[in-house]
Amino acid sequence: MLIGSSQTTDDLDQDFVMQSSPAPSSPEPQLLDSSPGYTKAEALRLELFLDWRIIESDYLQPLRSEIHGWCRLVTLATNKNETNVPLLERRGYVQVSIKGFNKVSIGVFADVFFSLVSLVKVILHHRLAAIATTGAVPERGDDASHLCHRSTCSRVGHVIWESAAMNQSRKGCVVWVSCPHADCQLKIWVCEHAPRCIKTVPGVAENQVNNQPHLYFH
Ligand SMILES: [Zn+2]
Ligand SMILES: [Zn+2]
Repeated sequence: MLIGSSQTTDDLDQDFVMQSSPAPSSPEPQLLDSSPGYTKAEALRLELFLDWRIIESDYLQPLRSEIHGWCRLVTLATNKNETNVPLLERRGYVQVSIKGFNKVSIGVFADVFFSLVSLVKVILHHRLAAIATTGAVPERGDDASHLCHRSTCSRVGHVIWESAAMNQSRKGCVVWVSCPHADCQLKIWVCEHAPRCIKTVPGVAENQVNNQPHLYFH
C-alpha cells in the first residue's frame, strides 16, 4: 500500500496516491517525487471533475462508519496502518475509489477527462468532505482541515479548505468549556478560530446549537 509521506500536513502531492499497478497504457506523467502519484495539476483537475453535490450521497455516505456525537467516523482502514488504534485516535485518512466517473460532470473537459480515467484511482475521504462542504477545490497548498479535530470524520460541514498553519493551530483547541457558575448550564466559547472548531454538545443536535446558540452558550 502506498501512502502519503507527511505526518502533519496534507498537501496535494502527498494526498493523492495510486494503487500499486500504474495504468499501463497511460503516458508517464511528470511526477513531483519518486513515489507513484500525480502531478499537482493532475490532482487538481481530478478534484475539479468531481461534482460536489453528489459527493455526500455517492461517496461519503456509503463508507462504513460510526456516529460519535456530531461526527461520522469512517471505520475502514486508514492510510496509516492503524487497525489497532481506537477510531477516535486515528490520524490517517481513508482512500475512496472514484471509479464512478459516470456521475462526474465532464462538460468541455471531456478530452482531459478521458486521459485521467486511466490515471486516477482514489482520493482521500477528508478531501472529498472538504469539497462537499465548500463546493470548491483547494487553493494551492491548502489543507483539508477537520473543524472537529477527528481525522476519520466524513461529515460534510466538518471539513474545510484552509492553510496548513490554520489547520495546525486547531490542534489542542478545547472549543468550549462549561460555565463555572454552579447553577449555570450554559457553555463558554474558548475557540477563537474562524470558522469555529466543532465539539459536540452532548444530547443536542448540531443544527439545534447552530440555529439557537443562545440556548446553549453565553
Ligand atoms: Zn466531525
Ligand atoms: Zn478552535
